[in-house]
Amino acid sequence: MADPLDDSPREACGVVGIYAPQDHVAHLSYLALYALQHRGQESAGIAVSDGENITVVKDMGLVATVFDDRTLATLEGRLGIGHTRYSTAGSSSWRNAQPVYRSTADCQFVLGHNGNLTNAASLAEETSILPGMVGSDSDLIGELLAIEIAVMPTADRTRGRVLERALERVLPRLEGAFSLVLADEKRVIGVRDPNGFRPLCLGRLDRGWVLASETPALDIVGAHLLRELAPGEMVVIDGEGVRSVRPFPEERVDPRLCIFEFVYFSRPDSVIYGQSVHHARVRMGEHLAQQSPVEADLVMGVPESGLPAAEGFSRASGIPYGQGLVKNRYIGRTFIAPNQQMRSMGVRMKLNPLRDSIAGNRLVVVDDSIVRGTTTRALVAMLREAGAAAVHLRISSPPYRWPCYFGMDTGDRTELVAAHLSVAEMCDYVGADTLAFIDMAGLTEATGATGAGFCTACLTGDYPVEVPVAPPGSAAHRRPAAPFAGAADEPAPSLWVTGDG
Ligand code: SF4
Repeated sequence: MADPLDDSPREACGVVGIYAPQDHVAHLSYLALYALQHRGQESAGIAVSDGENITVVKDMGLVATVFDDRTLATLEGRLGIGHTRYSTAGSSSWRNAQPVYRSTADCQFVLGHNGNLTNAASLAEETSILPGMVGSDSDLIGELLAIEIAVMPTADRTRGRVLERALERVLPRLEGAFSLVLADEKRVIGVRDPNGFRPLCLGRLDRGWVLASETPALDIVGAHLLRELAPGEMVVIDGEGVRSVRPFPEERVDPRLCIFEFVYFSRPDSVIYGQSVHHARVRMGEHLAQQSPVEADLVMGVPESGLPAAEGFSRASGIPYGQGLVKNRYIGRTFIAPNQQMRSMGVRMKLNPLRDSIAGNRLVVVDDSIVRGTTTRALVAMLREAGAAAVHLRISSPPYRWPCYFGMDTGDRTELVAAHLSVAEMCDYVGADTLAFIDMAGLTEATGATGAGFCTACLTGDYPVEVPVAPPGSAAHRRPAAPFAGAADEPAPSLWVTGDG
């Protein structure tokens, strides 16, 4: 379930794969997942293999809630994978927690998925998978692999590479976003889709290898970054080392990393496309200051991802930087449906103004995005109540106008404030004195990876691959734009749940 008090785009999932026969893989997986907790807080799971058998432990909740020393001690293995989930396809339930496990006549395997398939319905139909047999995209991929293994000719079942062979057949049929980690009894496999929508990197331990969604997961287990997997690459890690395979047709390979990994989703200490995410965010703020200057007394950021951009804005404008909002670090995800009173308190549950910094000051407030606008509106009201003389909003991403089909939960188009209002109308709606968004060129330049290839579909409407006409939960996408409804009533929580990690 999505956090009903949060108006930001929401994370996908975090994945990790570890091959380290001489170490306690479950402990390493736990640490790596802990570093990826921001990518998903609904469920967590670890699967390990001792070379003969695979054991899976998964449950609803945070990584530290699902695992304790006793649980980890029972997970003896030489290799394994881990997953932390935020559902963007499939409901938030134990059944959809990952890793997904399958047992076939030839091998057992487990898989963890970050992303969202855009052809899940047609794949299920083609393979005659009955509705209800699979609960999520990841479950579907597991089922397709199991079917492929069952029908694989004997001649192809060579050298224990059954899972690898099945992947070579199934992967080209998948469309959309998928960074996968898999393991059978003896090897760990990582896959990045041909567009590389979601990140996946490879690191080296003294006595092993690590795959992870983001580089801080490598740092925490003492691995050093070797490289990011290339879009369309599969790596197989076993006792002989790391092999790279290209299972997708060359013409499908078109790097389109989600630009929101730089803006919001990834940790600031992550390195993507060889660039520091923190420094990219600082540059976004610098660009905003040059592009949309304003006279003010104090620059402040909306914690956490707005802080580096605020620092950059201050540096480029010469306006002092200060802390104006304190974040409650321990709120985590809210699993209860909020009543009206809770909704109105929503922003205050997460952020509280520092009145001494705010009262009497003209503020530049830097945030990463405006999706529905409801949180921004409450934030501006809160700052005015605390005595702000003016509130100038600066946003480090362009207006968010189109829904995401690649693993980010932003709701459908009727919920996106920028799909219905001009910037001036949005400014009026959120109650700011001025409002400006970074332009597309400025954002791309700020990443430091201009030529690397990005998905910007939610900002530009330019989808790099075909998207479904009416995906689950967003049937309104192709309807004529309805009047923006956010001002009067926030949507029911069910509208926020669309789909799988
Ligand atoms: S549509 Fe937007 S959020 Fe989705 S992958 Fe593309 S850039 Fe990222």
